[in-house]
Amino acid sequence: MDAVVVGGGVVGLFAAYYLRREGVDVAIVDGLEPGEASRAAAGILEFTRFKINRINVVGYPTAYLSMLSKGAARIRHIDVKWILAYIRSYGKDPGERVWEAVREMGRFSWAEYRRLAEERNDFDYAEEPLYELVQDVEAEAEELKRDPLRPKFEVGELDGKQAVIYLEAAKLSTDLAVRRLREEAGARHVPAFAETVGDGFVTAGGKRLEADVVIVAAGWRISRLLGLPVAPFKGYGFRVRPSRRPNAMFIDLADTGIAVVPLKDWVKATGRFDLDSTDDHSPAEKVLAGARKLMGYLEAIDMAVGYRPCTPDGLPIVERRGEKLVVAAGACRLGWTFGPALGKMAADLALGRAKTTAFPSSRFGL
Ligand SMILES: Cc1cc2nc3c(=O)[nH]c(=O)nc-3n(C[C@H](O)[C@H](O)[C@H](O)COP(=O)(O)OP(=O)(O)OC[C@H]3O[C@@H](n4cnc5c(N)ncnc54)[C@H](O)[C@@H]3O)c2cc1C
Repeated sequence: MDAVVVGGGVVGLFAAYYLRREGVDVAIVDGLEPGEASRAAAGILEFTRFKINRINVVGYPTAYLSMLSKGAARIRHIDVKWILAYIRSYGKDPGERVWEAVREMGRFSWAEYRRLAEERNDFDYAEEPLYELVQDVEAEAEELKRDPLRPKFEVGELDGKQAVIYLEAAKLSTDLAVRRLREEAGARHVPAFAETVGDGFVTAGGKRLEADVVIVAAGWRISRLLGLPVAPFKGYGFRVRPSRRPNAMFIDLADTGIAVVPLKDWVKATGRFDLDSTDDHSPAEKVLAGARKLMGYLEAIDMAVGYRPCTPDGLPIVERRGEKLVVAAGACRLGWTFGPALGKMAADLALGRAKTTAFPSSRFGL
């Protein structure tokens, strides 16, 4: 059997990995080096928490508007279909069956990262608490109690600043993990962007590729390829060497909005949640300025740009769209957290081992 995976982000790489384990011959079609687009991420794994993806809960638009007014976010991308689907899904709860499927994604992904790290921990995987520095610790604790995944947390402080401490977190180096995944996936890379995708075929770089199955894992660009409601929330990730190394991984929600993850040989600092598909990456400067505010003088090693592919309800889309066509995208801010589960679901659909998932696009009524 052979397969073409369109998009070599973390989801496409995991899909390729699980297909290869079943003896499938896989080619990854991507105009970028596989993994490059997912490298920007902080690498915080939140297996039992979904709060960060709940962009359609009542109150979120006000919070985002406040970020816009302070210049902490910006909008440079308008997709009418996405906005209409957002309005329809606003304030709606998907129900316990879907939350149980999300919990299962967390359990599976956690076990898989542990297994990969036990085999060889060449991607700085570690399980440790995540500190969230917040202005109102009581309000944040109340919000976490409403998280449908029921995360374990406590209230405390980090370096004298009040924090909510999420106890079931883990971290990895995305820069090292993409290297490992590329090697594990062992897929042939076709360096081109797909122009069209269809049942068992892809056109890319003016050529037509055919395969027993095509998996489209092209992040937010599935909105262009298949008309699905997935929007690009752009962010930036810097690898830095600070003079003041932080004692723990944390997200500074009280002030800068920057996430900081100390790793073996560098610290990852990430930020911004801009609805932005342009090539103007100037807000990256603000991320670096925020990182300097938090850690003092620092040397920047490099910077990567990424697009969190968000559906209107923050849940992914994983489905079969034809005999030989599967889609997996829309992980929003949790693509690394749920990457193994999303890749496995896509591979199972491709292999005919599953027919449906809890995450069809039909929920948007398009
Ligand atoms: C700053 C930042 C911080 C983040 N932090 C975290 C975190 O701490 N924890 C976490 O779990 N997640 C985090 N995320 C989210 C995570 O990175 C995303 O959810 C994840 O990258 C989505 O994976 P994906 O494979 O679906 O899409 P992408 O990573 O966007 O990859 C899609 C791939 O498809 C390719 N592609 C697009 N169009 C085509 C085409 N036409 N033909 C061929 N290929 C195509 C792209 O080039 C790309 O390689 C963060 C994201 C950002 C930006």
